[in-house]
Amino acid sequence: MEKKNLLYEGKAKKMFHTSDENLIWIEYLDQATALNGGMKDQISGKGTLNNQITSKIFHYLSEQGIMSHFIRQLGKTEQLVKKLDIIPLEVVVRNSAAGSFSKRLGIVEGQKLPEPIVEFYYKKDQLNDPFINEEHILFLNIANEKEINELKEQARKINQVLIDLFQKINLQLIDFKLEFGKTENGDLLLGDEISPDTCRLWDLKTRAHMDKDVYRRKIGEIVPVYQEVLTRLNQLGL
Ligand code: ADP
Ligand code: UDP
Repeated sequence: MEKKNLLYEGKAKKMFHTSDENLIWIEYLDQATALNGGMKDQISGKGTLNNQITSKIFHYLSEQGIMSHFIRQLGKTEQLVKKLDIIPLEVVVRNSAAGSFSKRLGIVEGQKLPEPIVEFYYKKDQLNDPFINEEHILFLNIANEKEINELKEQARKINQVLIDLFQKINLQLIDFKLEFGKTENGDLLLGDEISPDTCRLWDLKTRAHMDKDVYRRKIGEIVPVYQEVLTRLNQLGL
């Protein structure tokens, strides 16, 4: 597979065209951002960790019958994936209160929710990715009712698989963000990444943050923390 010209450069990844118009080459960057770019740092080693963690998780999801854009890991920081027309929604699943949910609703962080809650955010940097509901999604023509239901169903299914996976490595899945898109034939597929950048993971015993909150909240260094998540996945044989 041949890497061609740059398609898009985001905050955490670069996407390149390839010799196959339906496939793209993703390069994970050593850049960390938060607060919609308000915090920005180069963190050596972050790209390779997130690429390895995402590759292992997407591979595991496919073994569990969950299809995604992921085809294969190409190198330390690179992946080959199916090109998607990304639906501009961040689909967030919450198992316990944290972050913006805790702030908005005044619920203490870590409080377990009786049932997982699925939320939608409009992926639009200029608007700071606002929280939106299903009627907004229909109004904005982002997705139709059937697609919204499919997104929620997929998100809940993925949640169950990930809760079980992380439990096996002594991590509690507090919440996470997913992105979906459509392939050239209109199939809805999971895209983007699943890593400590996009999930909240708490150590089951110590309750320590094992995710990007370490960076956002200036708790410590993310590389050793992300490395620990990868080491635990490796120990599972993933
Ligand atoms: P951001 O755009 O928020 O800065 P990234 O740096 O992670 O985020 O860039 C990755 C971009 O690529 C995101 O906008 C994401 O929606 C998009 N993307 C993820 N997977 C695919 C895919 N398979 N095909 C096309 N675009 C994708
Ligand atoms: N998240 C993400 N990208 C975003 C916003 C959120 O990956 O642009 C993830 C975040 O890591 C967390 C979940 O989505 O696992 C919920 O985030 P929240 O709404 O609590 O926002 P935050 O407190 O991070 O601003």
